Amino acid sequence: MIFAKIFIRRTITLCLCLCMAMAWMGAKPDGFSINKIDDALFARMKGKSYGAGCTVSREELRYLTVMHYDANGKVQKGELVCNKAIAQDLIEIFQALYEAKYPIERMVLIDEYDGDDEQSMRANNTSCFNFRKVAGTRSLSKHARGLAIDVNPFYNPYVHTIKGKQLIEPQGSSPWAINRDKKRNAMIIVGDDLCLKLFRQHGFTWGGNWRSMKDYQHFEKKIVSK
Ligand SMILES: [Zn+2]
Repeated sequence: MIFAKIFIRRTITLCLCLCMAMAWMGAKPDGFSINKIDDALFARMKGKSYGAGCTVSREELRYLTVMHYDANGKVQKGELVCNKAIAQDLIEIFQALYEAKYPIERMVLIDEYDGDDEQSMRANNTSCFNFRKVAGTRSLSKHARGLAIDVNPFYNPYVHTIKGKQLIEPQGSSPWAINRDKKRNAMIIVGDDLCLKLFRQHGFTWGGNWRSMKDYQHFEKKIVSK
């Protein structure tokens, strides 16, 4: 009995030491990583998410890999490009979502859709960096610096008004803008949704709280430029 107790204590101590060492080294669990933008990836982004006149340097961006559960409960390896200022936040948020088996249908780079936000949203693709303007305006989106992320966009549409006309994007998503009862679909971000809770904990604001428009898929973090 005593031996068993000593063994358990030693095992716990060893596990704690390992965890501390991993945290100290900045190690990430399997499938989760933060990487610089290498030449092959940069070539994939050029002319798409990294379009002409892009004002963000390649050095300011990071390529993340994260694990996630898809809409059918299958584990998938997701990828994101974001600003390095929020890279660690995103790793921690998506790790917590993975552990909770929170469904994220698709997470591939928006370059797979030639940087076309409408196509990416229609495919319910979660994405972050894309050098573009806010739809229907001349101002740069927070996505243009990689400081905003859209999660499960098809079920969490962007509802706004242009010249008195209400627009719901992407095409076909209006049923999910009108009835936002979580019981209809686990990917709907509303109320005590885990995704919403985690982004808030990490200091992000949610587009679903905006007054003049609703961007239910959108989370952004304000970072003061040095
Ligand atoms: Zn967005």
